[in-house]
Amino acid sequence: MTEPAANTSLTPQPGTLYVVATPIGNLADLTDRARAILGAVDVVACEDTRTTGGLLTRMGLRRDLVSYHDHNEAEAAEHIAAQIAAGKSVAIVSDAGTPAISDPGFRLVRACRRRGLPVIPVPGACALAAVLSASGLPTNGFLFAGFLVAKTSARTAFLEKYRDFEFTLVLYESCHRIDKFADEIVEKLGPDRTICIAREVTKLHETWLVGRAAEVRDRLLKGSLKGEFVVVIAPADFVL
Ligand code: SAM
Repeated sequence: MTEPAANTSLTPQPGTLYVVATPIGNLADLTDRARAILGAVDVVACEDTRTTGGLLTRMGLRRDLVSYHDHNEAEAAEHIAAQIAAGKSVAIVSDAGTPAISDPGFRLVRACRRRGLPVIPVPGACALAAVLSASGLPTNGFLFAGFLVAKTSARTAFLEKYRDFEFTLVLYESCHRIDKFADEIVEKLGPDRTICIAREVTKLHETWLVGRAAEVRDRLLKGSLKGEFVVVIAPADFVL
């Protein structure tokens, strides 16, 4: 029988970084492979030890956790990469979804790539892919802009720059600014632009608003603005 390649095995290989996706709400979205890798690596590097500790406890796993977050990322990346170079297997997870996608992880992955160390993804939930794929807006090409900076002038400049962009735009937005952002879209891109605002995907209060920007904005303002949001904006000529 042929041995599975290192990147398909459920057993972590020494000297390897695993980039492991965790659920964005529904715990059943944790993959079997993620569970196996998290249960067997030497070290789990995580954004918040309480959040990941809670997830691992619910999975019946007790692991040593190393903190890896925005404030210690540069230093921790070098330290963890050195451990991998010395032969340890390490999994990196963020609080939810896919590490390095608007979350810590990029610096550690880069540090490993610079050293020529193997980096293996263990894919799973990602709010960007979940929302875009179920939005009904064009998926043939898209620009993922992550979180826009909070400054109004920068957000206006973004919308003006991409008003006539040929592909779909996908953004993460905070619950503190989602109402204002919906207003800005209507104002800068027009009331007829097709958009999707998805809230709390895979969670109890999952909500989808898809259609003309002005209608989506009005429906958004009538509902709860708590939770997590992804915004998808179709190219100008698209009609649902
Ligand atoms: N790395 C994560 C991923 O793979 O999607 C993203 C982390 S980023 C810090 C958190 C943002 O992702 C939220 O503010 C929201 O824009 C989006 N997000 C995460 N989970 C979500 C969910 N269940 N429903 C809607 N948006 C979500």
